[in-house]
Amino acid sequence: MPLPDLNAVVSQRIEVAPGLIILRVVPDAWDLPEFKPGQFIVVGMPPSAPRYTFSEPEDQPPEPDKLIRRAYSIASSSVDRHYMEFYVTLVSSGALTPRLFALKPGSRLWLGPKVAGLFTVDSVPPDQNLALISTGTGLAPYMSMLRTLLEPGGPRHFAVVHGARHSWDLGYRSELLTLQRLCKNFAYIPVVSSPEEEPVPWTQSTGWVQGVWNSNAIGHAWGMQPTPENTHVFLCGNPAMVEEMVTLLAKQGFKEHTRKEPGQVHVERYW
Ligand SMILES: Cc1cc2nc3c(=O)[nH]c(=O)nc-3n(C[C@H](O)[C@H](O)[C@H](O)COP(=O)(O)OP(=O)(O)OC[C@H]3O[C@@H](n4cnc5c(N)ncnc54)[C@H](O)[C@@H]3O)c2cc1C
Repeated sequence: MPLPDLNAVVSQRIEVAPGLIILRVVPDAWDLPEFKPGQFIVVGMPPSAPRYTFSEPEDQPPEPDKLIRRAYSIASSSVDRHYMEFYVTLVSSGALTPRLFALKPGSRLWLGPKVAGLFTVDSVPPDQNLALISTGTGLAPYMSMLRTLLEPGGPRHFAVVHGARHSWDLGYRSELLTLQRLCKNFAYIPVVSSPEEEPVPWTQSTGWVQGVWNSNAIGHAWGMQPTPENTHVFLCGNPAMVEEMVTLLAKQGFKEHTRKEPGQVHVERYW
């Protein structure tokens, strides 16, 4: 089967830190599908596309006649569908990300026609607060949620806890700090796991996002304790973090949400 046409164009490539980029992608003469904040879309590149200079040889050569496709959470707001934004980490010996990192403004790639995913606030009652917990590029779906749903002075409290190894890996930090300054109902809690490697001493939270949850930093910021009665918790990022948080939250009475059995813990697993 012939490879599908590359139907979208990179309009912007922002290097956040080594191995971390934000890509903005514009559809070429078609309309992006409607989506809900938190959903993902499939991105594809042909195997013949060049790999990023600073990547390693791939684990397995891709099949020559098949598009390489992977899912990416949409980071942009669902109210602006001129472009889609993605927050991508480089998997050095991976198949797709070294090819995405080699893209420049004007480069072409493939965007799937449909969005998917249940990692949305659809099932969260409007009076419930949202604790959005992530590591690395697991922040992407929350950027879409905040950019779409956060209202200054709104009745619902929002918190983003974002874990990264270094402060320079905390993508979107200036936007999140600005949102926090403008929206009293939003708390941004960055956490760095290797503070000893910081050239300038890091004075905020250190360690893991699990520790931040246990320290009740969100409760202090909100002026009220998050409980299963008043808060839904979203988890996205490193699978070990997700599993540990699910276990920890279960001990505090938060139940994982499934379609059949509603709960307060919503999970997106990237790998
Ligand atoms: C619903 C969904 C949404 C996703 N959204 C994003 C997103 O917004 N941003 C993003 O960067 N990735 C996201 N991913 C992961 C993405 O689909 C790819 O798996 C990832 O980019 C690696 O692709 P690759 O072809 O380069 O690596 P592959 O050749 O497919 O190698 C896969 C291996 O890379 C490792 N890996 C995968 N993802 C990561 C990661 N994020 N960090 C570190 N190691 C990883 C794992 O060991 C995995 O087994 C998402 C995955 C899912 C299922």
